[in-house]
Amino acid sequence: MSIHEECGVFGVYSEKETDVAGLSYYGLYALQHRGQESCGIVVNKDGLFYSHKDLGLVSEVFSENILESLPIGNMAVAHVRYGTTGATNRANIQPIEVNHQKGRMALAHNGNLSNAYKLRSELEMQGAIFHTTSDTETIAYYITRERIRSASIEEAVEKAMKYLEGAYSLVIMSAQKLICVRDPLGFRPLCYGRTAEGTYIVASESCALRAVGAKLIRDVDPGEILVFYNGEVKSIKTCGSVSQSINDDKKKICVFEYIYFARPDSIIDGVSVHASRVRAGKILAQEHPADADIVIGAPDSGLDAALGFSEQSGIPYRMGFIKNKYIGRTFISPTKKTRVDGVKIKLAVLDEVVRDKRVVLVDDSIVRGTTMGRVVKLLRDAGAKEVHVRISSPPFLHPCYYGTDIDSEKNLVACHHTVPEICDIIGADSLGYFPVERLGELTGGKGYCDACFTGGYPTTIPDDSGKDRFEQPLKGSIS
Ligand code: AMP
Repeated sequence: MSIHEECGVFGVYSEKETDVAGLSYYGLYALQHRGQESCGIVVNKDGLFYSHKDLGLVSEVFSENILESLPIGNMAVAHVRYGTTGATNRANIQPIEVNHQKGRMALAHNGNLSNAYKLRSELEMQGAIFHTTSDTETIAYYITRERIRSASIEEAVEKAMKYLEGAYSLVIMSAQKLICVRDPLGFRPLCYGRTAEGTYIVASESCALRAVGAKLIRDVDPGEILVFYNGEVKSIKTCGSVSQSINDDKKKICVFEYIYFARPDSIIDGVSVHASRVRAGKILAQEHPADADIVIGAPDSGLDAALGFSEQSGIPYRMGFIKNKYIGRTFISPTKKTRVDGVKIKLAVLDEVVRDKRVVLVDDSIVRGTTMGRVVKLLRDAGAKEVHVRISSPPFLHPCYYGTDIDSEKNLVACHHTVPEICDIIGADSLGYFPVERLGELTGGKGYCDACFTGGYPTTIPDDSGKDRFEQPLKGSIS
């Protein structure tokens, strides 16, 4: 029940036994941007599960030996997890595995239930014991409980969905079936495709399908359950489901997936993430034009929008920064003793590009404002004459209960300062944010969730009383 569960899920279903672990490994590699804290793969061979999970990046957790130790099989489910700072917790590594009289199950989850505390408390008061602080275990509990009185696992999943509120894109593996589900509002992405060999792949983003040579078939509809069994795919539209073509406005895809979180080469609900970001840049140029000589993007998340800003404004796009590719999760931030600015290790300015220039700098978001302040300073130190900052999201003002890691309100710079004040804080000559009323243009007209910008939550928001205990690392964790 950690608050933030930005994650990536991946599943494989093949009639013939194949290297499902290898496919999962490459799939997770393509989803690494969705979570860097931990990862895991569970393989199903003849109904038995074989798994490997650990803290770390995919490249750190899976060596050649470990991958080879996982058998070939018919199915696999896999996960990359993003954790909140501090509460690094081994118990929360996914996929979660459940061993029950009614059969075993492995489950990978992206998203956050907005009623997780309530559901878990109810279960605990009935005597349930939890091993993790993750709401995924609550989902597993509900499915298992419904499984006892259902004819099939998909029926149990459908019944469990009636209790769950908030964001969940799930991949579930039983002894015989692979199942995927997207919550009725479709907060988080989920899609599936097929390889030339006929292996079905389910993934958070289409970039992972492409990575393993699968062609995107379509997105899983909000509220839809897909069952891969006996070589066939069965679709169950649950009562809360929203069809792909009708009721598009009822969907609540997280608009921040398009702005920042997803990979630009992914297509989510029929809309290219790259195209959406370029559009954001064009809109920014219309709404907040600047008199400038060049447009640059903050790597990597500001690059596509910078391109759009340049196209719309006619101001040439230039490469202003070089990003160190080798900075990873284990990067140790410099201490006061070393007197080195961490941003300088990650980013270097191309002096000759920005010197004596009036620069438009585009990035996707300002959270606390620290990064942008340092980046503006880097540009000024390199001789930029003016720095005009353009942000391809509206200001963050509210917490997210659906799985995006938005800092608490006390740390969100926009909660305590006006735009001109933020402009001063970051040391820019001008600052312009994406207009909140035009966010719909980024999702191709489909309904979306913008609660972190507007406070308009599509579900009831949780009563957070008692949540603190979930933020403590469990005994035995390594933090
Ligand atoms: P800050 O220094 O807190 O203002 O950091 C802003 C930077 O964090 C931006 O460049 C964003 O690309 C990045 N960012 C924004 N939201 C997230 C998020 N949910 N997870 C990780 N990074 C983020």
